[in-house]
Amino acid sequence: MQREVRGIPEHLRSMEIPKIFTSKFRHIDSEKIFYTDGSRIEEATGFGIFNNNVSVSFKLQEPASVYIAELAAVHYSLSVIVTLSPNHYFLFTDSLSAIEAIRSNAACKNEPFFLGKIKQCLNVILNNSYQIPIVWVPAHCSIPGNERADILAKRGAIEGEIYERPIAFNEFYSASRQRTLASWQASWDKDDLGRWMHSIIPKISTKAWFRGLDVSRDFIRVMSRLMSNHYTLDAHLLRIGLSETNHCACGEGYPDIDHVVWTCVEYRDVRSQLLNCWRTQGRLSNVPVRDILACRDLPYMKLLYHFIKSIGVPI
Ligand SMILES: [Zn+2]
Repeated sequence: MQREVRGIPEHLRSMEIPKIFTSKFRHIDSEKIFYTDGSRIEEATGFGIFNNNVSVSFKLQEPASVYIAELAAVHYSLSVIVTLSPNHYFLFTDSLSAIEAIRSNAACKNEPFFLGKIKQCLNVILNNSYQIPIVWVPAHCSIPGNERADILAKRGAIEGEIYERPIAFNEFYSASRQRTLASWQASWDKDDLGRWMHSIIPKISTKAWFRGLDVSRDFIRVMSRLMSNHYTLDAHLLRIGLSETNHCACGEGYPDIDHVVWTCVEYRDVRSQLLNCWRTQGRLSNVPVRDILACRDLPYMKLLYHFIKSIGVPI
């Protein structure tokens, strides 16, 4: 399904994907199809399985993740299938990560309990004349069986019986990490300090904003200073008592980065040359620097950096 649904625009997915699904799988006896899903809702995790003869909802003991719930649902379905006569069954899940983990032969440190069970189960039943392809289907695209499994998974999370399992110690790490991140996010949202930076990077992350970008160290330095609103222009120096003026040397404006980039007459000549280049790249002028940074529009950030370097203003 991955290949077939690639490139379908978002607004057409709910209309087109069910048609593709039906054309590919309509020949299959619906009793041989199992839809599985995992869900996390209101800090609870559950899984659901839907088949013509089976509707299952379970809750997982916390800490649990959607990924573990997806694996639990696949495992449960296999344990139902193994009680049926050998045949060609289909298992549909919307979890690519679960499918990849099941297909992978790589040795996995701290393998989730259900993943080991699934592999054992598949080994046994595939040696007994069963065929069970595990097929990915896109979530939330109006595929009726997937929607039913999703509802069952949510119901399981909210009011299902606990499905017993051993909890690996590393699952507690992940829960504690989630709680720490949530608490960090909450304090970042309500703090009084760093509001400029918050407007640019509202969502906390353990990864630096420049991770994975092919940019120079100086680019990172300059952009980070602009993001933090701590730079060597008088607007900031005044705030920390190192300047006594809030007027640019040109006499016409507040000496912050927006003034320097967009209006300061001192840099008119350099700016007019660069504006042509910016327009050819489809960039509007007079966009607040904060917005350029917040959009993380890298080409525009590079133009901004080039301008700052061209005018020789230390940042
Ligand atoms: Zn000026």
